[in-house]
Amino acid sequence: MIPASSASGVAAPDASSGRATRAIIDLDALAGNVRAMGRLLSPGTELLAVVKANAYGHGARMVARTALAAGATRLGVATVGEGAALRGFGITAPILLLGPIDPGEARVALSQDLEPTVGTDALLEAVEDAARSLPLGGPAQVHVKVDTGMRRYGATPDGAVALAGRIAANPMLTLAGLSTHFAAADDPDERFTLEQAARFDRCLERLAELGIPPASVHAANSAATIRSRRYDYDVVRVGIALYGLRPSPSIVLPEGMEPVLSLRSRVTRIIDLLAGETVGYGRAHRVTSTSQGALVPIGYADGYRRALSERGWMGIGGKRGAVMGRVSMDQTVIEIPDGVSSRVGDKVIVLGTLEDGAPTVEAMAETIGTIAYEVVTGLTTRVERVYRRGGALLDGEEVIETPG
Ligand SMILES: *Cc1c(COP(=O)(O)O)cnc(C)c1O
Repeated sequence: MIPASSASGVAAPDASSGRATRAIIDLDALAGNVRAMGRLLSPGTELLAVVKANAYGHGARMVARTALAAGATRLGVATVGEGAALRGFGITAPILLLGPIDPGEARVALSQDLEPTVGTDALLEAVEDAARSLPLGGPAQVHVKVDTGMRRYGATPDGAVALAGRIAANPMLTLAGLSTHFAAADDPDERFTLEQAARFDRCLERLAELGIPPASVHAANSAATIRSRRYDYDVVRVGIALYGLRPSPSIVLPEGMEPVLSLRSRVTRIIDLLAGETVGYGRAHRVTSTSQGALVPIGYADGYRRALSERGWMGIGGKRGAVMGRVSMDQTVIEIPDGVSSRVGDKVIVLGTLEDGAPTVEAMAETIGTIAYEVVTGLTTRVERVYRRGGALLDGEEVIETPG
């Protein structure tokens, strides 16, 4: 029932040597998605794999390595800690800090060879100070962010030109990039995205006139990359699509892209229920006729959101088993569907495919009124990530020792 991993370091695909609740990360699917995105791009455009938030919950170390091996040339993270962790794993590819960091973090960022994005004088000053005082191997790579309409982070076009000029004039810094971010690239109405791109282009023209072209220009997220070559520039910053998830229901992924993550568990108890009994906290579910429930060891502390109470479902025996009552912190009860006979130890698919009877990530997001991004980034560290490649699971040893 619970086979140990073989000495070769590869275990059978459903071997379980720990807690039953695990996320299975399909590295072949990830590599395929990276290659599919790469095929879309204009010749010469680079793919930056966005691996912030622990690679959207998929595990930054294995995702970063796999994406780089499949053709991504750069990585993007949100925080200095995320970037430093990747360096700790021996990753040497360029790593962009996508958003603002605290000025107090500039020293650590540069010492870890992370590329900051600046949109304010205060951050640029801190980066200048850090570059001056640190023994760096060469000029620090700095990107300037233009706010073309997102109204979140970034300098105005005038401010960006000024920041770029200051970076270009400093021999300790290199103007590594000019970037912007789209507010509504997934909107069926493309007008605002085109407007943002036009503002961005004017800013680029001004830098060209001043003789300070940035080394790279980047704007597109997944949605913009999928919808048009208009937004390619030198680099695209792709996150959600690499994980085989749609940026929004209106964006269709290119042919051949597939989800990378599935979430699995096992039945730990069969519960025979009589009409009139209630299940779980608050007695929120009342049983109307004799039925069976299955206890599944997953709860909101795993990121299986409490909002799924009485609304969610899991795949069991290839059918949909509805969540009975409230999701608790560590446990959830699902109904064993008609025609399914289930036993302790049987597989339960918490996130998967229609054929499993399970919800996809997108379907779960819709059920609780959120987006796919929040479902996958919400899986907590308590859920072990297990990696599959070439049809076999990599065991812990191999994950740790896989060379970069
Ligand atoms: C997260 C992020 C992305 C990736 O967005 P997706 O929609 O996941 O492709 C791109 N650029 C920036 C600045 C980001 O913060």
